[in-house]
Amino acid sequence: MTEQIGPLSTSLIIQAAKEYGTPIYLYDENTVTQKCRELQAMPNAFGLNVRYAMKANSSKALLQLIHQNGIGIDASSLNEARRAAAAGIPLSKIMLTTQELHTGTDLVDLESMVKSGMKFNVCSARQLSLIAPVAKSHNIALSMRIHPGVGSGESVTRNTGDKYSCFGVHLSIMEEQLAFAAQEGIVFDQVHVHIGSGGDPEAWRKNIDLELGFVEKYFPDATTVNFGGGFKVARMPREEAADIVQLGEYAKDRFTDFAARTGRKLTMEIEPGTYVVANAGYLLTRIMDKKQTGHDGFQFLLADGGMEVNTRPLLYGAQHPFFFISAQGSVLSSEFRLDSALTEKIVVGRCCESGDSFTLNGNGEIVPRKMADPAVDDLLLVGGCGAYCASMTPFNYNSHVQIPEILVRSDGTLQLIRKRQTLEQLTHNELPL
Ligand SMILES: *Cc1c(COP(=O)(O)O)cnc(C)c1O
Repeated sequence: MTEQIGPLSTSLIIQAAKEYGTPIYLYDENTVTQKCRELQAMPNAFGLNVRYAMKANSSKALLQLIHQNGIGIDASSLNEARRAAAAGIPLSKIMLTTQELHTGTDLVDLESMVKSGMKFNVCSARQLSLIAPVAKSHNIALSMRIHPGVGSGESVTRNTGDKYSCFGVHLSIMEEQLAFAAQEGIVFDQVHVHIGSGGDPEAWRKNIDLELGFVEKYFPDATTVNFGGGFKVARMPREEAADIVQLGEYAKDRFTDFAARTGRKLTMEIEPGTYVVANAGYLLTRIMDKKQTGHDGFQFLLADGGMEVNTRPLLYGAQHPFFFISAQGSVLSSEFRLDSALTEKIVVGRCCESGDSFTLNGNGEIVPRKMADPAVDDLLLVGGCGAYCASMTPFNYNSHVQIPEILVRSDGTLQLIRKRQTLEQLTHNELPL
């Protein structure tokens, strides 16, 4: 039999496990395309430019797919920008927003990429002094990321705007940096604030007001205002996603007011990562074993992929939905219809690390969840794994190898977009005593 889990059928999931083994990431092309369309249809007053924050998932085929959908790139390192360029994305569609300070050949490369149209988003005074000569001699307008002094994020580690983080040019030194730029004849045509990832819509609305205030007061040449990423998505049943239409409507009103007041028609720019790929991706694992820790203990299910392929539970206490699939293709339990017959269990991975579990809370403690009682070799599909999984995990921990990524094409076929790493590749750069 076959059943449907979101966009995927259980027969396709079983086929993927047969062809490529487990664990693997499965991405749904249609979902990515739909998310790209939703973003581009976001209400706006005088134009919208969408960039994909590629740190969420930097796989080449996904970058190409997202680019084909008309979306640009926000790169968070020079190497990310190089990877985007190597995927065929024109430099004019890439912006670099980074904590790095480039020297040597990196600086040479950075300068040539900026000269070829890559946007540079200045994030510190030192970065500004580094890029100033090229910007000045080639009349290249820059963007400035401002640290606004307030922020938002699902967890402390993802709040990028308060005094405990140091992303961007802090408000307290912004005016002196602008004075330096003015003296050099350098123009800022864009202002940027990213307050954090997965944050709440109210904080996002506040940021719009705040940033437009900066533009009005300090950036006479700005034509684009970038609000960063951070649209919240719902992975688990009770989570609530950001309403991007409502946020767009709010921004549109503010831009319209701004234009009425100042005569300046600003373009809105956003750079979501999570929103584009999070719910397009699944992690497919196999139940290898089951254990019980005594009569007053817990039932454990051991999956063949854990923290080394999805670190979000360990890092953030993030919850991801579980779907158990039998060998015959029936859905034994789905996070979205939990019935009373299910019992509480713990899902762990195969790393020698007590935090290697998908059933953790925000304090890193194991908390059992209701789920089916699968047989060994049944499949566990984990949802919400498209963002910050493949791109962020310590995949070689315990000498596990980086796992394949498979794209479910819009015609329903499976396409391998990353091969499984080999043990030889893992040890390739090691030298003997
Ligand atoms: C991480 C990041 C984003 C994307 O954040 P999401 O929460 O994945 O949407 C956008 N802009 C910048 C500067 C970032 O660092």
